[in-house]
Amino acid sequence: MSSPCIRRFSFSFIYFLFFVEIFNNKICIAQDSAFAHKIIDTLTSPYFFGRGYVNNGNAKAAAYAADRFYEYGISAYHGGFFQSFMMDVNTFPGKMIMKLDDKILTTGKDYIVSAESKSKKGKFKLVKIESIASQNSDGSWQYAVTDSKTILVIDDSTKVGGGLKSLLKTVEEKSCFGAAGFIELNSIKLTMDMSMEVKPWMHLIVLKSAFNANAQTVTLDIQNKLVKVQSQNVVGYIQGTRKPDSMIVLTAHYDHLGGLGNATYFPGANDNASGISMLLSLARYYSNIDHRPEYTMVFIAFGGEEVGLIGSQFFVQYPLISLNKIRFLINMDIMGTGEEGIKVVNATEYKNDFDRLVKLNDEFHLMKSVQPRGKAANSDHYPFSEKGISCFFIYTLGGISAYHDVYDRAETLPLTKFNDLEKLLKLFIDSCQ
Ligand SMILES: [Zn+2]
Repeated sequence: MSSPCIRRFSFSFIYFLFFVEIFNNKICIAQDSAFAHKIIDTLTSPYFFGRGYVNNGNAKAAAYAADRFYEYGISAYHGGFFQSFMMDVNTFPGKMIMKLDDKILTTGKDYIVSAESKSKKGKFKLVKIESIASQNSDGSWQYAVTDSKTILVIDDSTKVGGGLKSLLKTVEEKSCFGAAGFIELNSIKLTMDMSMEVKPWMHLIVLKSAFNANAQTVTLDIQNKLVKVQSQNVVGYIQGTRKPDSMIVLTAHYDHLGGLGNATYFPGANDNASGISMLLSLARYYSNIDHRPEYTMVFIAFGGEEVGLIGSQFFVQYPLISLNKIRFLINMDIMGTGEEGIKVVNATEYKNDFDRLVKLNDEFHLMKSVQPRGKAANSDHYPFSEKGISCFFIYTLGGISAYHDVYDRAETLPLTKFNDLEKLLKLFIDSCQ
């Protein structure tokens, strides 16, 4: 029998241990978040200039990922982490000025340049499309001849030519009806893209709320440059302890949209500095001697995703590993929120694996929902998927909705469910049979 005094001591000691445990957990979580935030802050900083093809941002981001692989003791295939490939990209280095009459518009916030747009410099007359072109009932067009000193204005609520989408197609087919280019007014949001080719005209997308409908002229100084660039995938692996000949592959693209002119860039915090931070966090975890994986784990940071899945297509064409030895591939793109759970592309293709993921989530109460989606060609899993390789593309749902715009910033990315999602991914990886 123990005395009351000793009992009180034991009781307090258990409480003490309990609080130490909570404290330790909190520190651990804080450290995980701090690790992810540090990577995202770094990759979204001006030095990387949107991880595109101006100011060498893309190459700097690849070097950053390779340096982290080296730091964690990840092994390289054929003596180096890089797998290089070439691609064409339309870029916008140098100047970027747009003025409506005398009012200067802010690049990225008021307007963007369409990805396949050509350079244009000078002062142009603004002409609404309705005033020069109309479609006859038999589908033919009649239009007044414009000239190269004119820029057409097309509202996204236009009824001309069957609405915006089909009208834009006609405008391109008719070479802008002879104008120097066109301004597309968008009433919702600006969403930037990338292109491997250049159209023969200028195409700007302007937020309707920033556009003065009475403006008579637009002054432009916008420079494009179609460049042939070398990009690279960053590839490393950790040898498996029990099933070294079978692989779990984790992928995330490090590239983003670069910049518009020499002062504005797209930070790409959620897309996809968040995915790279998850990739690096998992690489660091499994490289720890206490967490060595049973399967060989391959880590790939892809380049050229935003240009059109170029890096992942190249990898599948020239694989550094035997593709038929991949047990499962998880592509991580947009990992920064999760308030509403996650979406799993290819869930319907690999139902058993998806059911296992859902079961683990239910058991450990990690994400609010794990939602299935079918096949989709929307990220780097797709070239693997087309080869019949078992894979998921996982992205987070809810939270901030900034996407392919200047608002996708590290400062406002919550990383709400980052730690829980990382836990779920580890559980899924460790439960692969
Ligand atoms: Zn992405």
